[in-house]
Order: sequence, then C-alpha cells, then structure tokens
Amino acid sequence: MLEGKRVLLIVAGGVAAYKSLELVRLLRARGASVRCVVTRAAAEFVAPLSFAALSGNKVYGDLFSLTDESEMGHIRLTREADAVVAAPATADLIARMAGGRANDLAAAALLASDKPVLVAPAMNARMWAHPAVRRNMALLESDGARRVGPAEGDLACGETGPGRMAEPEEIIAAIERLLPAAGPLAGVRALVTSGPTHEPIDPVRYIANRSSGKQGHAIARALCDGGAEVTLAMGPTAEPAPARAKTVRADTAERMLAACRAALPVDVAVCVAAVGDWRAAAPSGRKLKRNGAAARSLELAANPDILAALSAPGRRRPALVVGFAAETENTVANAAAKRAAKGCDWIVANDVSGGGVFGEDRNRVHVIDAAGVETWESATKAEVARRLAARIAAAHPGGGARADNGSAAP
Ligand code: C5P
Repeated sequence: MLEGKRVLLIVAGGVAAYKSLELVRLLRARGASVRCVVTRAAAEFVAPLSFAALSGNKVYGDLFSLTDESEMGHIRLTREADAVVAAPATADLIARMAGGRANDLAAAALLASDKPVLVAPAMNARMWAHPAVRRNMALLESDGARRVGPAEGDLACGETGPGRMAEPEEIIAAIERLLPAAGPLAGVRALVTSGPTHEPIDPVRYIANRSSGKQGHAIARALCDGGAEVTLAMGPTAEPAPARAKTVRADTAERMLAACRAALPVDVAVCVAAVGDWRAAAPSGRKLKRNGAAARSLELAANPDILAALSAPGRRRPALVVGFAAETENTVANAAAKRAAKGCDWIVANDVSGGGVFGEDRNRVHVIDAAGVETWESATKAEVARRLAARIAAAHPGGGARADNGSAAP
C-alpha cells in the first residue's frame, strides 16, 4: 500500500516526538519515502540528525532558511508528497493549523498543503479535554483533516488519560486509509456489519449467538483490497479487523444501528452481523440472584432490524444493500422471502443446518437478487468475500452495471 508513496512528516515539540522516529523507520520499511519538518520545539526533544539518518533525507526546520527555501521551499514540500502527517501534533500546532497560521515552516507547509492531512495529537489529558483544543480539533476535522488518536494511558507528565500519541503502527494504518486507493472499488464507500451482538441481561450475563465475525471481516477485507473506503461496525469478536477499514465497536444491536447510521452516507452496505433479534426488556443494573428460585422468566424486547432500516427508501439509502440469511431449512425460498421483507437488493443465503459454518473457514452460499439465484460452490470465507466484492464492483454505478433490481438509491 505504501510502496513508492511520499510522506511529509511534521514533527511538533512534544515528548512523543521520539515515537516519530519509529514511525519514520516503519514507513521506510514499507517502501515509503519520508521527508521531515522538525519544529524548533521538537528539536529540543529529538535531534533533527536522528530524523535525517532514519529518513535518509535532509530535515527541514526553518521557514526563513535561504538554502532550504531555494532548494525546496515550503510549497514544494507538500507538492512532492502524497500525504502530510503531523505527529506528534501538539495543542499549539493544532491551534495554529485551525487558525490558518503560517508562522513557521511546519505551519506554513500544512497551510499550503494540497494533499490529505493526518493529525496525531499528543498532549496532557487536561489539555486534550480543554474546550479550546476540542474546538480547534473539530474545526480542523471539519476542514478535512483526519485524526488518529490520541490513546488513553500513562502520560509523560505522570498523569493518566487520553493524550498519548497513537502508536506508529496505528498511524501507518491511518495513513493507508488516507491515501487514495487503486482498484475496482476505488472511491466507493462501504459499510459492513460483522460478528454477533451481546445483549446484556445484567452486568455479567448476556444473550449472544455463535457468529465468529469471520465472514463479515473477510468481506470488509476484500472490499478494502478492492480500494473501497470501508467502515466496519463490529460486534464482540476476536477476529482481527483489516487495517485499512475504519472500525467501530458496537456490542449491542442498538449500538450497531447507531454506528451504521453514523457511517452514512455510503454507496454499499453489507449486513453480515448476526444481530440478536431480541434483548432483555429491562437489563438489570445488578447481578441477578437465584434466591432459590427453580425457574425464572426473562422478558425480551425486539431489537431494531439494521438491514431493514438501511434498506428503507430514503435520501440516504445506500445504492446497494446486501443482506445475509443463515437458514436451517428451505434456504433459498426463505432467503428470497427475507429479501422481499427487508427490502434489500441482494441476499446471500447459507444453510447452517448441518453446522460447519459458524466459526468455520468454509461457506457455501446462494446469492439471490431480482434476476434470480446463483449458487456458489463451497469455498473459503475469504474466497466468498472476494467473489462478493467483485460482484459488488461490477454492479456498482461507478464500476459497471447498476445494482440490478432497479431499486438503487432514490
Ligand atoms: O432475519 P434474519 O436475522 O435472518 O436476517 C438476516 C440478515 O438481517 C442479515 O443480513 C443480518 O445482518 C440482518 N439483521 C440485521 N438486524 C437484525 C437482524 C438481522 O441487520 N436485528
């Protein structure tokens, strides 16, 4: 992903600057070239020579350096980059960026940037929580900058809380998301739900199901590989999320629906999650006691149907909505009825009656759309995912024919 990409790294003056050295090393190991701008304050924390040695490039620092400006100049620094990354971004740098200041080379280069900008804030937790910083950061994000972190944890000042710069690996994943992807799904925004839900009964018990998240995560990965911009709303699962996807953890149906709504608008939604149909009507705040009772009943309330909600006609309906249906009998007929009932465009049905699907690596599916039924031979979940991603690319308005039932976005 990063092979041959050029990253302009702006290092501001914070203790976390030492972690930016590792970031430079990892970026280069992945084939990217790195140019660094080190602010005067940052040079107090880490010697610019270290950045020069690790990047293999001259380090820039001073807006008014005659040699720097004649050799390179603050405009060219961003023109000759694919992405600009401010890491660590201090409260001061964030304020200067939000205010459109250009009072040093770092700020001037960021202001002159015509490339995607990623900000990795690092500061004391109180500073991060300060309304002024929140305001500046929100302004920057609404201006189009992306943010990664900060993470929660021990801070150099001895306090604890959100303020640690994101780890270099995490920053790299965010840079990959930032770069325009190549592939048949480039420019396509996709939403995938994956995994089970855990609906609490009390603080220690919950209602769950056997979904592993393998198929949903594989689909998210295949869509990322095709170049789509993917948001993965995932229930509790141990399955590793694809690095390029934006992940949102949502352990209950209601939270997953909220996460899906927040991800809109998207072009394609693929609902793979095994969302619990019911939740405890009144989850207890305290652990329920047996108190000698031989039996006890639990009142259930219906969960929202995320697939049906996303499929409902409206301005924000994705152009293509794909549902899944795990069936134990009459697989195709039941799934076709489900497609009509939920209003989605395609439904991918599988027979789970004999076991061997939940948590397993293989899957045999039928893809049902307005044109009919396609039965795919048994394949690994990764292969099913790749095939589905290719079908989505072919159907997407930008990638070929439209979603084929004419119910594309109103
Ligand atoms: O009705 P059933 O659960 O069999 O439908 C399966 C499909 O509906 C899957 O795509 C699943 O992700 C979706 N679904 C949902 N929200 C629910 C229940 C199911 O999105 N509450």
